[in-house]
Amino acid sequence: MDERQLYDELEQLKQEIHFHNYRYHVLDDPLISDASFDQLLKRLKEIEAMHPEWITVDSPTQRAGAEPAERFEKTRHPQPILSLANAFSNQDVLDWYERIAKLDARVRTGTFVVEPKIDGLTVVLHYEKGIFTKGATRGDGEIGEDITGNIRTIRALPLKIPVEKNGPAAPERLVVRGEAFMNLVDFERLNKELEEQGFKTYQNPRNTAAGSLRQLDASLTASRPLTLLTYAIVATDGRLPRTQWELLEALKAWGFPVTRDATLCHSIQEVLQVCDGWQQKRNRMPYEIDGLVIKVNDLEVQGRLGFVGKDPRGAIALKFPAKEATTKLLDIGVNVGRTGVLTPYAILEPVEIGGVIVKQATLHNFDYIKEKDIRISDQVRIKRAGDVIPYVIGPIPELRKGNETEFIPPSKCPSCGAPSEHIEGEVAWFCVNAACPAQLIRNVEHFVSKGAMNIMGMGIRYVEELVESGMVKDVADLYHIRENDLLKLEGFAEKKAENLLSAIQTSKSQPLNRVITALGIRGVGEIAALDLAEHFKNLENLAQATYEDITSLEGFGPNISQAILDWFANPRNQQLLRKLKEAGIWPQQEERAQEKLPLDGMTFVITGTLPIFSRDEATEYIRAQGGKVTGSVSSQTSYVVCGSEPGSKYDRALELNIPIISEEELRRMVGEHG
Ligand SMILES: [Zn+2]
Repeated sequence: MDERQLYDELEQLKQEIHFHNYRYHVLDDPLISDASFDQLLKRLKEIEAMHPEWITVDSPTQRAGAEPAERFEKTRHPQPILSLANAFSNQDVLDWYERIAKLDARVRTGTFVVEPKIDGLTVVLHYEKGIFTKGATRGDGEIGEDITGNIRTIRALPLKIPVEKNGPAAPERLVVRGEAFMNLVDFERLNKELEEQGFKTYQNPRNTAAGSLRQLDASLTASRPLTLLTYAIVATDGRLPRTQWELLEALKAWGFPVTRDATLCHSIQEVLQVCDGWQQKRNRMPYEIDGLVIKVNDLEVQGRLGFVGKDPRGAIALKFPAKEATTKLLDIGVNVGRTGVLTPYAILEPVEIGGVIVKQATLHNFDYIKEKDIRISDQVRIKRAGDVIPYVIGPIPELRKGNETEFIPPSKCPSCGAPSEHIEGEVAWFCVNAACPAQLIRNVEHFVSKGAMNIMGMGIRYVEELVESGMVKDVADLYHIRENDLLKLEGFAEKKAENLLSAIQTSKSQPLNRVITALGIRGVGEIAALDLAEHFKNLENLAQATYEDITSLEGFGPNISQAILDWFANPRNQQLLRKLKEAGIWPQQEERAQEKLPLDGMTFVITGTLPIFSRDEATEYIRAQGGKVTGSVSSQTSYVVCGSEPGSKYDRALELNIPIISEEELRRMVGEHG
């Protein structure tokens, strides 16, 4: 292949990768598999390795390439990045409408655009000749910080526009305004990972997005699941669209991520109706929004309306009532997790927030209590967002009476009394006593749970009794319990003891994936356990797997792979495995039968709460029947399995005409075929 051809291939690859990245991260509608995508990227890297001089800033390989910076440079925005005046009620919106209609009568006959107001971090994105050249924070509105390297890592950001080959040509210069943020599920997952690893957790998705974008090391930003939506043009030397609606269309056509939830309204009454509808819709959004933005659609009218103070008149932000409440902090409790991590939680005087009674809230970690100066008996502000566990925002010091007491992190594990330990530089405190009953209780609880060994009738109360009586010192001891032992415990009649023992015996024949789940390896849930079982076939092979063996599996990153290695390297766990083997729990993965399975070749997406299955159970069920389960609805999706209170995936399925079925229909589908 001559150089010319190689160069053409490189250009072609860049274009294709940008396009498929866009299908995946912006449209949520991938056309090729992850593996095929990786192939393209691998080939591009090969060519770039041969010709480093061909690497350009808009290459997909450059997303996480920036060297750690010492500080961020200041940068002046081409136009002030303005904030909006706030409205807090429909009446405020009507008042705004009357005010601007008096200034410009065209408002009365014109249209409006209502867009969700994302609770994220405003970013300003510069494109020269269609190539992303600079990204900045809003800063004070005049001067922001140059965070180009960090913004580049956001997959939804186009590095080059137009993204599609036949898209409209980009103007010479274009500056776009957008909001970087984190989806709620990604936020929860990230926090859980951080907590398990003993790092500081984040307070809310907004802080997380802001904190992630302001990392001096871009590779850290790259590891955070940030995303982006754009909604305004700050400056351009091209032709400006005539209306806000057309502007959103134009951004979309270039390949920018744009909300699917904007509405064009033909009167102010329609605007108010749409706003009212959002009171419900708000709770179904995959990310946090703190209100709606109502914009005069005609950009010329919008511009003519001018400013009042620093706020443009042509748009207003309708703020949602915050899901916050004030209540008394009665006490601070401490939980001992499965890994021994100690986490504080707030015990509250019960209070209603958005229709739900809240009695407990997270306090994140001990540093958080100290930083916020949260004291027992304080009046505290609580926030609930989406399905995220409520958290304590902070105290209201003005309401102190003098009887509030400071909280001191426990020097001992609240369960076993062993001294708690703290790794320098990390935020978490641990109970490192390997025989800590609280940890053992959590472990046994997990081992017997429905998704693991599924030992029916083994409630938390019995788990506690068995551990506290000393009968169970590790999970393998469960298999040595005799009827006489059980009868000594409180609340055990003969029948009950028999039932429990038989459930324990039955669990011995659980398949390999469930046994792997039951071991409670950090980060290994039911789905990962299925993959491990399919690949390694038995516990011997898994125990001997190398780091490379594990990371070579799709979806197994460095953290989870290391956690698996560490678990099997631990002598206590090795002893546990020997005991399990002696007890007869040593399953071999059965080769999947060659016969055709009912769901072969079908791809499912699950949304909402299903009547019988949990999310993971439904996933396992579908996979056992030969089907595939993915996280987002695309044209590749065969069916969306929908329960109560479905999320945005439901709307997406309607949009793409993907058949929507119930859990019952899913079961019937499996039954019908055999
Ligand atoms: Zn302990």
